[in-house]
Amino acid sequence: MSSSTAFAAPETMIRTGVEPVTGYRPGASAPASGRVARLDWNESPFGLSPRAQAALESYDSANRYPDYMQAPLREALASYTGAAIERIIPGAGLDDVFQTLAMLVINPGDEVIIHEPTFGVYRSLFSLNGAAIVNVPLGPAPNFALNVDGIIAAVTERTKLVIVCQPNNPTGHLFPRADVERIVTSVPCLVAIDEAYAEFSGTSHLDLADTYENVIVLRTLSKFAGLAGLRVGYGIFPAWTVPYLNRVAPPFFNISAISSAVAVASLADLDVLNERLAQLLAEREQLSANLEEIPGVHVYPSATNFILVDLPVESSEGILKDLAAQQIFVRRFGQPEHHLGHCLRISIGSPEDNRTVLDAITDLLPRHRKDGA
Ligand code: PMP
Repeated sequence: MSSSTAFAAPETMIRTGVEPVTGYRPGASAPASGRVARLDWNESPFGLSPRAQAALESYDSANRYPDYMQAPLREALASYTGAAIERIIPGAGLDDVFQTLAMLVINPGDEVIIHEPTFGVYRSLFSLNGAAIVNVPLGPAPNFALNVDGIIAAVTERTKLVIVCQPNNPTGHLFPRADVERIVTSVPCLVAIDEAYAEFSGTSHLDLADTYENVIVLRTLSKFAGLAGLRVGYGIFPAWTVPYLNRVAPPFFNISAISSAVAVASLADLDVLNERLAQLLAEREQLSANLEEIPGVHVYPSATNFILVDLPVESSEGILKDLAAQQIFVRRFGQPEHHLGHCLRISIGSPEDNRTVLDAITDLLPRHRKDGA
């Protein structure tokens, strides 16, 4: 590198507010290939559906830009959700739709209310966009209750947004619908309902987005449709925000033409996706029941494609490492304030992967038990 230039203080180039932000920590990620049980990202164990596979194989126009307004994708999402096409704002994964939402509403110093433990991207993404994060923690296990009164009381004139993760990651549970609706009707700001796992829960709050002008419902094709690597998410926004969204959403909504084409084809294969969903739910119940048979192990009820497992250990760090040494990757949430340091979050994988993780935990647990049993 050249040493004599006028460019002397690179750090001063960085936007104010970036330095203090703790980036989203995804945890140690499994290698993408090799014989591993990759159960740490809540991915789908299924490959592309037949129509999606055919769309991928026949794709031949990478030299062309995507449809500027992503009309075919938004039409497919409109018929899937029943929402008007204008209100559907897609993005390169749901994370990217949150970025569009931040661009729409956040001024420096505005407040965003979240309920930790929850999905870690909210804190890092909204902080990076200049927001102050206000955490109203969930109640203790086993209910992990939403503190509705606490959230309502935490609202100030700077509050722009309350984010409710429904069902919640990493606890996997669904909050009572009445709690979510009470927040929606009591706060003078927007409420974003993150329904990344809605299809696994069998419920949805899309109707709240039709009824109330302050509700945004956010969804993704990463989980239920198994397109995590293609990055397609979407939000259903209130009609009054549409003229503004058209100004802040990124060109092409950041979605590649190929991702868009495969997503449209996937949504034409809903019968296949629903059949796979049923298989996954059966696997989830089976794995949960098998784990519960191990003395001292408790599996929290899940409305998602993952389970939060409470182990009879002081800390699940040791068993996490031992599992990783066997190429079995699961997730741990070690922040002391979340009180989940003895738990592991396990994505539901293929029957083979689920068997592998069950056998490994059965085998490893005696070495880690706090009661020495
Ligand atoms: N919300 C929640 C609750 C999630 O768990 C995830 C992914 N882990 C996302 C949003 C982001 O999903 P996407 O892959 O669409 O960016």
